[in-house]
Amino acid sequence: INPQSAFKQDAASLASQLVGDYKAHPIVVPKSASVYDAIVQIFLEDVGTLYAVDKNGQLAGVISRKDLLRAAIGNSNLEELPVSVIMTRMPNVITVSPDETLLEAGKKLIQNHIDSLPVVREVDQENQLYEVIGRITKTTITRAYVELLDY
Ligand code: ADP
Repeated sequence: INPQSAFKQDAASLASQLVGDYKAHPIVVPKSASVYDAIVQIFLEDVGTLYAVDKNGQLAGVISRKDLLRAAIGNSNLEELPVSVIMTRMPNVITVSPDETLLEAGKKLIQNHIDSLPVVREVDQENQLYEVIGRITKTTITRAYVELLDY
């Protein structure tokens, strides 16, 4: 088998893997949670990003490590500051659906300079309401790369 065509097959099989088959468990907090509690969660769950949801459980925003660091520098009372004030809010959150490919997810991560994408299911198209069903991170893509090519 020609090494170049084997390489193309590997690349094509990696690119065509579906987000739904690789997504990790999302760590979600209510948007009313304090920045203090979000910092505790990010350590306890060992993740880089938390997703904030509203009272109906729908995606409201994304909170990254740097968002929390920035908030911690300027504020003395992190227990009183809700994450809704510091998060990146809908409709500015970049999402991915389970039927998109890992290539599409990887492009969104790179083009938007972000570390993670919430995997969502649309519950109301008109009002752009989404339920969070997973997460795709740079680690997810690296794991798929290693699993598929380490034979
Ligand atoms: P960090 O800020 O810890 O380096 P990121 O690079 O993922 O982590 O986040 C950079 C900024 O982009 C943060 O302000 C964060 O809120 C925002 N962000 C992270 N993920 C997303 C996303 N999926 N959609 C929109 N914004 C995001």
